[in-house]
Amino acid sequence: KITATDWIWRDGEFIPWNDAQVHLLSHSMQFGSSVFEGIRCYSTPRGPAIFRLEDHLKRMVNSCKIYRMEVKYTVDDLVAACCELVEKNGLDACYLRPMVLRGYGATGMVPFDSPVEVYLPCWPWGAYLGEGALENGVDACVSTWNRVAPNTIPSMAKVAGNYLSGQLIKMEALTNGFHEAIALTTEGMISEGSGQNVFLVSGGTLYTAPIDGTLLHGITRDSIITIARDLGLPVREQHVPREALYTADEVFLTGTASEVTPVRSVDRIAVGAGKPGPITQQIQRRFLDIVKGAGEDTHNWLTYVRAE
Ligand code: PMP
Repeated sequence: KITATDWIWRDGEFIPWNDAQVHLLSHSMQFGSSVFEGIRCYSTPRGPAIFRLEDHLKRMVNSCKIYRMEVKYTVDDLVAACCELVEKNGLDACYLRPMVLRGYGATGMVPFDSPVEVYLPCWPWGAYLGEGALENGVDACVSTWNRVAPNTIPSMAKVAGNYLSGQLIKMEALTNGFHEAIALTTEGMISEGSGQNVFLVSGGTLYTAPIDGTLLHGITRDSIITIARDLGLPVREQHVPREALYTADEVFLTGTASEVTPVRSVDRIAVGAGKPGPITQQIQRRFLDIVKGAGEDTHNWLTYVRAE
């Protein structure tokens, strides 16, 4: 459940949490036209720091561009607003959920008569896949639902409507006793989880699906590719068939909410030794060190909320 905070930023002003209401007949409510982001802010020795804030906001503006939604604010405006938001709510570690939605006005599916509204809420949030997931790993299945095919619903846009696919994938997994599911492309190759990108480790090389129009271009995915290369580990962005999940030495999921979560089994088949593998642990440690301000932020990924 969401923990309410005091303030939400809406189109340039801070409004009380409970005042952030939209009309039932807003376009986004009826037709799923709400672009959003999920961003983590970490507690560091230098105060709260937001991970890859500018990259997330750029992705949000690009999602809007795909859907012809005009955002009145620059990425710089939104960066400043996000920092102010965390500070004003008195938060340290938290999760930010910027949203750009088509509001009330249009009568039908054609959205142009609905205003484009920008909201920036945030709230405290812990481990997404449950306590112990980062340390012990999770049990995943392969979903019977495929991801969207290229040139159908754009997977590179992070829009509410896309998450109907994610909900089907996730509900099926939970109903069948798994923590998470990995979905395939319509061609049967590994695509992504319901809210995470997927990595396999085989013979010391990392494999992850390419940006192929079936998955979100994850910012954590990009960070992990960079970290792996910094550590001297080869990374290949290529299509990998389903069965590679069963024979991989290690499998892990990446995402803002999930961070770097090891997968210990897929379809009840143990991955490697059935516990988090050494490369996963090495990468996870490096990632968590950077985001928490314990390791050097060599790629300038942190935006400190309090300017020095
Ligand atoms: N795929 C999907 C479908 C997602 O919802 C997410 C979470 N935003 C990801 C991948 C991972 O993306 P990121 O690392 O940018 O959070």
